[in-house]
Amino acid sequence: MRLILFGAPGVGKGTQAKILSSKLNIPHISTGDILRESVKNQTEWGKKAQEIMNRGELVSDDIMISIIKTRLGKPDSKNGFILDGFPRTEVQAQALDELLVELNMNKVSVVNIVADEKEIINRLNSRRACKECGKIFTIDQIAELDKCPNCGAENSFYLRDDDKTDVIKKRLEIFKSSTLPVLNYYKNRGRVIAINGIGNSKEVNDSILLELNK
Ligand code: AMP
Repeated sequence: MRLILFGAPGVGKGTQAKILSSKLNIPHISTGDILRESVKNQTEWGKKAQEIMNRGELVSDDIMISIIKTRLGKPDSKNGFILDGFPRTEVQAQALDELLVELNMNKVSVVNIVADEKEIINRLNSRRACKECGKIFTIDQIAELDKCPNCGAENSFYLRDDDKTDVIKKRLEIFKSSTLPVLNYYKNRGRVIAINGIGNSKEVNDSILLELNK
């Protein structure tokens, strides 16, 4: 199965992608995670990407397309994948279609996760990441903890620069202007499944699987 998880930042794409990846046994490919890894390793374009990400803007299509080409060319993507955070522009969506033809892969299904803006801002504001392993938690999940439950790092929780309120607003603006048109691109061409993103992660996941199995 080839899936694109589509939706505004903070709508729960990452959480859903992880659950689906383990249930369907196909890789979760998050372009945000790939970029953050390059930032951590301070590669040449990792440094450039960091500034752009901290401002809540989009990294250039050229860089993103080349990242996704490399990633989808790896053997573990052959039997399917879940894209999280890509494509974010129409140019990226077109490039993905061309790449799928080159790789002899069928078209993708798009899962559009929907939630209202207030809910999204609240969720992003109350997210904390571990600076060692990158795993995301809610404030409630880590309230009593001084060690990361995923990797054991001590005092490692922080609010990502791109989860701060003014950057969130910028990310939402860019989502509306540059990324929402991607949805129409897919509506006009293929299968888009709309999913209500309000609810706990199990409920949202159940409704995704129910729709995919129809
Ligand atoms: P995410 O974790 O998916 O919210 O991505 C974090 C940041 O990485 C975004 O705000 C962008 O700056 C950058 N980014 C991730 N994926 C893309 C993409 N497909 N196109 C452009 N920028 C991206």
